[in-house]
Amino acid sequence: MSTKTTLLDYQNSRRKRDAEADASPLEDGYWRRKKLTEMNEREWEALCDRCSKCCVISIEDADTGELYLTDVSCKLFDTKACGCSDYANRKQYVSDCVKLTPKNVPKLDWLPRTCAYRLVSEGKDLFWWHPLISGDENTVHVAKASVRNKTRPEGRLQMPGLIKRITRWPAPLEKPPAKYRKRRRIRR
Ligand code: SF4
Ligand code: SF4
Repeated sequence: MSTKTTLLDYQNSRRKRDAEADASPLEDGYWRRKKLTEMNEREWEALCDRCSKCCVISIEDADTGELYLTDVSCKLFDTKACGCSDYANRKQYVSDCVKLTPKNVPKLDWLPRTCAYRLVSEGKDLFWWHPLISGDENTVHVAKASVRNKTRPEGRLQMPGLIKRITRWPAPLEKPPAKYRKRRRIRR
């Protein structure tokens, strides 16, 4: 088996800058009409739901190609904040942090099935918890779609330790919980 560090540089893709488009408000449902290649910087960045499942280490069986997810995160991941603790300098510490682009998204088999980039590249809609639909950054956690507070850092773990941490991440909630629905109106 070999490890794959599933890291995503979604904030730093070299997309064409279009100051006017970047400054304009996001159009409702733009991800249903535009391909990844057609999105401007702002639209591209807004597509990330900040679930951070891409900062969790997966293990690939070199013989079968099968991927196993763990609950071990990249060493720079801050599980409480659910984000990178040193995004600006991450490459110094994590050289294999992968830059996400419209071209590589369809090839990155370790991207979670719920990843918004993957969904759009497969012609699918976003889930109810996505901030672009809910209008609330917190819904990704409400839906249990994120890894917030659910990971431990890789530290000095070697392969045998990683294998013991293989886990099955629970499926996110299909609908908003009733308590949440009463407080918010989820847009579709
Ligand atoms: S370096 Fe930062 S962005 Fe990259 S995988 Fe690690 S925590 Fe995530
Ligand atoms: S939406 Fe995709 S890129 Fe963004 S944090 Fe989740 S898995 Fe990573």
